[in-house]
Amino acid sequence: MKNLAVFIDSKSGQVAESSKRLLDFVSNWALEHGTSVFVYGFEPFSSELFNAYASIKQYTHIKIPDLVNHNQVIAPLLEDIHQKEIGQFFYVKTLLVDTMASSIANSLQIPLISNVLKVEKVAAGYQLTKSVFSGKATITTEIKGESFLIAFSKSFSIDLPGHVGNSTIIQSEITLEKDPQNILIENHPITGSIPLPDAAIVVGAGRGLKDPSNWAMVEDFAKELGAATACSKPVSDLNWRPHHEHVGQTGVKIAPKLYIACGISGAIQHLAGVNGSRKIVVINNDPEAPFFKHADYGIVGDVFDVLPRLLNKLKSH
Ligand SMILES: Cc1cc2nc3c(=O)[nH]c(=O)nc-3n(C[C@H](O)[C@H](O)[C@H](O)COP(=O)(O)OP(=O)(O)OC[C@H]3O[C@@H](n4cnc5c(N)ncnc54)[C@H](O)[C@@H]3O)c2cc1C
Repeated sequence: MKNLAVFIDSKSGQVAESSKRLLDFVSNWALEHGTSVFVYGFEPFSSELFNAYASIKQYTHIKIPDLVNHNQVIAPLLEDIHQKEIGQFFYVKTLLVDTMASSIANSLQIPLISNVLKVEKVAAGYQLTKSVFSGKATITTEIKGESFLIAFSKSFSIDLPGHVGNSTIIQSEITLEKDPQNILIENHPITGSIPLPDAAIVVGAGRGLKDPSNWAMVEDFAKELGAATACSKPVSDLNWRPHHEHVGQTGVKIAPKLYIACGISGAIQHLAGVNGSRKIVVINNDPEAPFFKHADYGIVGDVFDVLPRLLNKLKSH
């Protein structure tokens, strides 16, 4: 079996939770199959961060220009992949890695499979469980051959065993050149908030909040819980909240341990982005709101009454 590569996602020096779970999975997978893992990322992490994983051999910092989506630009990366005899690539879907992955798949002429939840080795090759129809169903598919790229959905929530073993790994760096065909026009980094896809608790609010000024109440509640804030699509369309908070079929997909939905009806398109949540609490004044059918706990009540009371309770503990 060829060696494995993991592309990790990170922000401000912190590896994303979803990437940590992926590292656990791939390092165990490598141990089981007697092969090695090479990790790639976009920040200069100390290799010690990965020492606890016995099968990880090297961390490579990919230094990139603003945007990369051209085969020529990834040539140094392809050369590195070739030298390390890497056949299988794993990553959690992000725009940057996805763009790179499609170039790798195209250059190496290997398949790229998206929205994967589970991979198993079978006699004929590999069996993959994939999420389809916005998480409403799963399908299993088989691939033959030893080379492929697998993109896990950001909301993958399979329980994986922790990593095992220890190793000393080395660190290296690859610099990709700027692609003259791509010019970054604007870059708005998201600061000061818990990244939605990695948040353990998310408080979402919808049109039931009536006015953007009422979000102070949602933010206070989220802060007390250490939660990220999210919203329904109409709320971001109305510019009541920033677009990066919009969850659903056309927005961010989340899989927190707890999702608290306030004044959100529970339309199918909204559910498509939140149905990976372990527990869902719905607060809505309409007992017929569709969201209640998908809730673990429901509170029928006015959000302007319920949320401050919950906040007071939290503060008094
Ligand atoms: C192609 C397509 C893609 C879409 N993608 C998305 C998507 O990605 N994400 C998304 O969210 N939507 C998406 N939508 C829109 C979706 O269909 C719904 O219209 C939207 O989710 C409704 O938002 P809402 O629940 O905030 O608002 P509403 O439907 O207006 O619901 C407001 C809810 O608040 C409750 N409420 C009102 N006042 C109070 C109060 N005082 N206390 C408690 N509850 C109260 C009401 O009972 C109601 O249930 C998409 C639609 C289409 C057609």
